[in-house]
Amino acid sequence: MTKEELIQEAFKAMKNSYAPYSKYHVGACIEATDGRIFWGTNIENASYGATNCAERSAVFSAYSNGCRRNTIKALAIVSDGPRIAAPCGICRQVLCELLNEDTPIYLSNGQEEKETSIKELLPMQFQESDVIHS
Ligand SMILES: [Zn+2]
Repeated sequence: MTKEELIQEAFKAMKNSYAPYSKYHVGACIEATDGRIFWGTNIENASYGATNCAERSAVFSAYSNGCRRNTIKALAIVSDGPRIAAPCGICRQVLCELLNEDTPIYLSNGQEEKETSIKELLPMQFQESDVIHS
């Protein structure tokens, strides 16, 4: 799948966004190395704190279906906002554990596009190696 195709899949996922409070719609799509794709959307909650972001929904779905960091090829995150949707801090922490540091992350809002990685998005990462002592 090309970068543009993956971005288009994320826009399809965005149509399922549940964002009655913010009206800020986000879609995400993960492509696995075996060709499977996993959609995610932001799913808001009246409590606000229980809201889940699109990229976490997508990566949790990929993991729930057996993917691991080495079988995730790329992640696209798109929004209908005025600028590209950079992942929030919680998502950056989750993605640094669940993706390889150089896995491509494509960001788009339909007008602007950027390719990045979790290595770039989250320097000085707090990781598994910080809490697991042998
Ligand atoms: Zn987030």
